[in-house]
Amino acid sequence: MPSYDDAETIRCTRCGKYILEDSERCPYCGHYQLADEHNRRPLWFILTVILCILLIGSGLIFGLLELLPWRL
Ligand SMILES: [Zn+2]
Repeated sequence: MPSYDDAETIRCTRCGKYILEDSERCPYCGHYQLADEHNRRPLWFILTVILCILLIGSGLIFGLLELLPWRL
């Protein structure tokens, strides 16, 4: 069990021991955690999501325009 209960702890990606979340590297095995690579979504993913939202949004708008009875 982690000895520091009041701090946010994660498990070392190599040895699995509990270490502080802010730790840049594991104090037990010295392995760099590189937490950002795992937690932060890559830029292409964000761009793809935004593109999908825009496509779906525009599709909904054009779909509504088709449905609305103002093509008289
Ligand atoms: Zn470790």
